[in-house]
Amino acid sequence: MAQVLIIEDDPRIRPLLMRSLGELGYAVASASTGMSGLSLAVDTRPDLVILDLGLPDVDGTQVLAMLRAVSDVPVIVASARDDDPSLIGCLDAGADDYVVKPYTTAQLEARIRAVMRRTASTGERPRATVVGGLSLDVLARTATLDGRLLDLSPREFDLLARLAESAGDVVGKKELLVDVWHQAWGGSDKTVDVHLSWLRRKLGESAAEPRYLHTVRGVGVRLSPPDA
Ligand code: CA
Repeated sequence: MAQVLIIEDDPRIRPLLMRSLGELGYAVASASTGMSGLSLAVDTRPDLVILDLGLPDVDGTQVLAMLRAVSDVPVIVASARDDDPSLIGCLDAGADDYVVKPYTTAQLEARIRAVMRRTASTGERPRATVVGGLSLDVLARTATLDGRLLDLSPREFDLLARLAESAGDVVGKKELLVDVWHQAWGGSDKTVDVHLSWLRRKLGESAAEPRYLHTVRGVGVRLSPPDA
């Protein structure tokens, strides 16, 4: 039985969520403050955390940062607004997905299942992927280029890892939005473009003079070694 920890201070939401997830077969624990949630997450090692951003003691984004320092437990953040800048910060800081309040149990459960599926499949992937001078360790989440450690954000690493998975093949931007940003609808190609340009800079190349990242106009992006 999967264990879910809910960190949520709203007395109308928390018991309801506990009951409905319990009825769906999850073992549910909850905390109403950021700090108590953090210590529960560390002590009980849940399979997944649902984290509210507006908490009474510490901001949810800080809880996430502290949690990420010690654990890679999947985290779904919940926010009242989908244009909340801290929500975007959370995704960059390693949240696995998000739900916008008010959400239904069905929506949340779909996210939970998707996150569990993704994190389960991560474990089955081979640990190291090598593309030319580029090497990725998907478990340690580190990447090196010609032996030099790259300083990548979590999202940049995910993007690079997804491209490395299909090295030599063109991956469509819509596909990247789904696999890396988990946005099946309404995601913008611009998001992919911006992260690609950051990634290019870190790999020491440019769109005009590509080495590893090759844009195929109107189709997508291909990761391949410079001499391929
Ligand atoms: Ca709240």
